[in-house]
Amino acid sequence: MKKVITVCPYCGSGCKLNLLVENGKVVGAEAANGVTNEGELCLKGYYGWDFLNDTKLLTPRLKQPMIRRSRGGQFEAVSWDEAIAFASSRLKTIKAQHGPDSIMMTGSSRGTGNESNYVAQKFARAAIGTNNIDCCARVCHGPSVAGLQVTLGNGAMSNSICEIEDTDCILVFGYNAADSHPIVARRILKAKEKGAKIIVCDPRFIETARIADLYLPLKNGSNMALVNAFANVLINEKLYRQAFVEQFAEGFEEYQALVAKYTPEYTAEITGLDPELVRKAIRMYAQSATATILWGMGVTQWGQAVDVVKGLSSLATLTGNLGRPNVGVGPVRGQNNVQGACDMGALPNTLPGYYSVTDAAARERFARAWGVPSLPAETGHSLTEVPHLIEEGKIKAYYIFGEDPLQTEPDLGVMRKAFAKLDLIIVQDIFMTKTAMMADVILPATSWGEHENVFSSADRGFQRCYKAVDAPGDVKDDWQIHSLMATAMGYPMHYDNAQQIWDELRGLCHLYTGATYEKMADLGYVQWPCPTEDHPGTPWLYEGNRFDTPSGKALLFAAEWRAPREQVDADYPLGLCTVREVGHYSCRSMTGNCSALQTLADEPGYVQIHPDDAARFGVQDQALVWVASRRGKVITRANINPRVNAGAVYMTYQWWIGACNELTAEHLDPISKTPEYKFSAVKIEAI
Ligand code: SF4
Repeated sequence: MKKVITVCPYCGSGCKLNLLVENGKVVGAEAANGVTNEGELCLKGYYGWDFLNDTKLLTPRLKQPMIRRSRGGQFEAVSWDEAIAFASSRLKTIKAQHGPDSIMMTGSSRGTGNESNYVAQKFARAAIGTNNIDCCARVCHGPSVAGLQVTLGNGAMSNSICEIEDTDCILVFGYNAADSHPIVARRILKAKEKGAKIIVCDPRFIETARIADLYLPLKNGSNMALVNAFANVLINEKLYRQAFVEQFAEGFEEYQALVAKYTPEYTAEITGLDPELVRKAIRMYAQSATATILWGMGVTQWGQAVDVVKGLSSLATLTGNLGRPNVGVGPVRGQNNVQGACDMGALPNTLPGYYSVTDAAARERFARAWGVPSLPAETGHSLTEVPHLIEEGKIKAYYIFGEDPLQTEPDLGVMRKAFAKLDLIIVQDIFMTKTAMMADVILPATSWGEHENVFSSADRGFQRCYKAVDAPGDVKDDWQIHSLMATAMGYPMHYDNAQQIWDELRGLCHLYTGATYEKMADLGYVQWPCPTEDHPGTPWLYEGNRFDTPSGKALLFAAEWRAPREQVDADYPLGLCTVREVGHYSCRSMTGNCSALQTLADEPGYVQIHPDDAARFGVQDQALVWVASRRGKVITRANINPRVNAGAVYMTYQWWIGACNELTAEHLDPISKTPEYKFSAVKIEAI
């Protein structure tokens, strides 16, 4: 038996594991001693591999290229030459008729790795000539990137996952670590065991609330009001570090003026929280020697998400909890390589290494390196804008790489209607997802475990993954497919291996220059910025309290609270919040094809509901129910749960039966364009 070291592909924790391989088949997985997981894994890490053996699959693995010559016709298996010629000639025609910006692409935040995302965005920018490339950060932590870039200068976690257990106080805000990053939850538990104070702000009594010193069950949709109330107390009670703020921050006067009215008493009606509890919580945070804030999609999937991220960042600035170990701001990224897809420039506004597409000097440098006269200077479209752009006739072709928008985007009815109007849909994936079923061209790719690549963990850590087994069928690595497509489009692109791609990237981005394959193999983990080959990487940012903003100072920011766009009413009396199932990952195409994880949780999913609401609507535990919004109706199973707050219901977005995105609204944060997945008005009916 051989052991192949890799990184778990199921969340941004970046846990290292060994795949155990016998006779060319994976027979198990065991935890390895990675920097973030230190010999531990959650159940997805232990049991998330058996789809690699191509057995017992609920969803067919894609094993050969396929095309569909007419919409609604049958898929036809073809050679790679024919598939590439078919897809590229149709893309060329669309580009000639409607311009490069009529083509939209996605990067992929899944097991595809950084090299493939780098090549994908290069294909979009150099071969097609558009910045229309985006990734699933748009629907998860896009607001964290947008907010933190403005307030601190970097859109990523300031400190490391492994530091969490050595902090004195953790403010867990809208973040269900136990279900989304179990190994991070383990770090929070270890911090507690070492004496840290834990404060949990969440409408639902999540697992971490069980160990919290203070639990703040705020109302759904009141985040901004609570963050402002925290700031109000810090200033009024002089709990903030005045010298730090004077020397290293800016914007204090406007900030102070805006939060002045947000006393805990003023916000009590909005948040539903006892003012004394609010005071106690922020005093606990401010009076700890080191404190960190962790947040998840309970912060980012709201229509005011960027403002809240900036507000949380400002709490860390006010209290001087930046620029040293065991403090900081922690947006814990969801999909395993969403940090990497962003790092690689699979975003409409940044090139690899976070150079803005509007930065003429950066564009010129990349254009020279890529051998094109120029690169597009206009910010591209976000993937959440796509349905409307299709309706307006602005997007004609969609090249979807390792994403499943017909499962994961809000208001799926609108998505399907828009997709039907596209001239061309290309899907590059490993499984026949819901989106692949609508494709004109399917380009089958190798999976995690079948190729070599680099992942970025949520805390900016680069790690190498190695190939364990051969892929089934006639499939190619993602970067090979994009290279073939680019060449066929008239932009010759060729690499012999993933390392060549990585080295090209390093040469272009000062943040990653020193992160060589060799160093990653030696150290196991290299966190950017790593500007030179003798640099070990950067576990925590902002040393000396120098921030990467234009002024070098941290920006303090507050905004007036806004209610969620949709409100409950007599017809739709409950607020739906989308969440995730601990045993499954993203659209479930991978984990849904792993038998142990299927056993743990399978269709039709569930809706969590408070006992009082269940009684009010005549719903029995485990019974099938209809859940309906103004946009759609799905059948699912009731899960009566006292840990859920009354007035709200919770569904995971991962099921084909009971797909809650049939119900969600596409109300977007105006800055990040992230949907308000956390609040849609619904009703529930017993069957
Ligand atoms: Fe670690 Fe996340 Fe994988 Fe679990 S799912 S083993 S926490 S990387």
